[in-house]
Amino acid sequence: MANNILNSLLREYEQKKIKAELELDEKKQNLYALYPRLLEIDNELSSLGIQSTKSILIQPENSSNFVENLNHKILDLKKEKQDILLKNGYSADFFTPDYECNICQDTGYIVDNDFHTVMCSCLKQKLLDISFNKSNMYGLKQENFEHFDERRFSDDVDLSKYKFNISPRKNILNIKNKCMDFINKFDNPDSKNLLFTGATGLR
Ligand SMILES: [Zn+2]
Repeated sequence: MANNILNSLLREYEQKKIKAELELDEKKQNLYALYPRLLEIDNELSSLGIQSTKSILIQPENSSNFVENLNHKILDLKKEKQDILLKNGYSADFFTPDYECNICQDTGYIVDNDFHTVMCSCLKQKLLDISFNKSNMYGLKQENFEHFDERRFSDDVDLSKYKFNISPRKNILNIKNKCMDFINKFDNPDSKNLLFTGATGLR
């Protein structure tokens, strides 16, 4: 169960991260169209970054002057890029994705001072919130009847496979109706409780 919750949170994190990066990419492309020099600068910066890494890997002993030179160029280009942004009314951090958590950049994990990978405080907080919420209803935004789609269930009747003489779709619709009935009569003292059963690990 705990693993399920963590996995589900990490999937949410991954989606948040991808969304933030895609949004940034779109913003970038729009800006490149307006200020082509920014695209040139970014291309130069990635090329210089690759040259610097290559030089350190291939000739570590002779690389210091060369790398220092590259670093100067990189700093100059970054300064030019920042000047273009500020001069045109954009913030200096325009090229930073809009992460929900800037500490872990929506990965859920950070590297601590001892170089160990540890959970970020945002992920710990989410797990704490969930463990305090005894009913595990953290996914209600997604997991609710508005997102219920019976088409996910087969419309075939197959007694030997499903052990029912109705299709899984008909069965889930019956269950849904019973749940809706339960909700609608929730404040009726005569209505009975619902009990869901199944093999361990099912949700
Ligand atoms: Zn975080």
